[in-house]
Amino acid sequence: MTAEDEMTVATPVPVVITTRPEVLRDERRGAEPRPTKLALRKLSVYYGSFRAVNEITLDVAANSVTAIIGPSGCGKSTLLRAINRMTDLVPNARATGEIMLDGANVLDPQVDVVEVRRRVGMVFQRPNPFPKSIFDNVAYGPRLYGVRGKALGDVVEQTLRGAALWDEVKDKLRQSAYALSGGQQQRLCIARAMAVEPEVILMDEPASALDPRATLLIEELMRQLKDRYTIVIVTHNMQQAARVSDETAFLTMGDDRAGYLVEMSPTVEIFTNPKNRLTEDYVSGRFG
Ligand code: ADP
Repeated sequence: MTAEDEMTVATPVPVVITTRPEVLRDERRGAEPRPTKLALRKLSVYYGSFRAVNEITLDVAANSVTAIIGPSGCGKSTLLRAINRMTDLVPNARATGEIMLDGANVLDPQVDVVEVRRRVGMVFQRPNPFPKSIFDNVAYGPRLYGVRGKALGDVVEQTLRGAALWDEVKDKLRQSAYALSGGQQQRLCIARAMAVEPEVILMDEPASALDPRATLLIEELMRQLKDRYTIVIVTHNMQQAARVSDETAFLTMGDDRAGYLVEMSPTVEIFTNPKNRLTEDYVSGRFG
């Protein structure tokens, strides 16, 4: 949480739903239902004895963007990090329940965590490129898998093209990633996640440190990427959730401060006709 986030959360801002048709178009209406890629079943996450996430059950459809929204501290990041077992890296943290990825439980102790993190990539709030060249950032993962020579160059090019960054960096691949703008660095981090051919990409407030133009580029990229990946994004920016996601999950906190799922619905319904009063209060800015 940054001071900026705190301010955003503390100051309820009514959500203005734009009427631009491409924004709220429910692309899935009338389409065949997509298969479930991720199924959370009674997922709870604890830090020591504190339960941060309380028995969350929800399905994420393949090749869709799912937004997770809710007040600060309700467990959005914790939920996201459980999905690729990053909670393992936090001493005292543990997850119970099931996170089914294509029907196999990610939380199973027998599971190869390295493989889970290859299949489920993560992009963070602040761009965090490695202190290496642009090329080496993207090549990092493929090299670990033994890709070398021309094949490596091809992977880097294809990945940078896929992340809508190639044209901007093709003449300076050997320069430090730090020479890029914040928005370019974030697209490089998305490219780095894509380079190991994940199936799911988790994004934790990926645009909150970026200016409006860089934010729109990231959002446009997300819309393109869902053809190839399943995307789950945590955002405190409700307009962003409305612009990019197909489905939205609204979480809030109980009296014990544990985050729970209030409702998950097609995004257009969450913002125009929510089922639950708590959702309505949150999206209309009455509760932040
Ligand atoms: P959100 O992303 O919705 O703001 P978080 O997932 O960051 O919420 O945090 C959920 C709750 O878990 C908060 O009460 C937070 O203080 C707590 N928490 C988060 N990370 C840790 C940690 N590493 N150790 C202990 N408590 C944590």
